[in-house]
Amino acid sequence: MADAHKLDCESVSDTCRFIVQSEDEEEAVELARNHMKEVHDQEYSDDELREEHLQVV
Ligand SMILES: [Zn+2]
Repeated sequence: MADAHKLDCESVSDTCRFIVQSEDEEEAVELARNHMKEVHDQEYSDDELREEHLQVV
């Protein structure tokens, strides 16, 4: 099975349980970035998301 890229919003927020998971890293980053912006009003760069928030599972 291919690796999946996952962002668990619980690691950055106490109240949000949103999880992004995709085998496509670009898609996972994009979904995560949109979620952070729309729901948390926080802007993350792709690099920040990749380095600090995305896990490979
Ligand atoms: Zn969230």
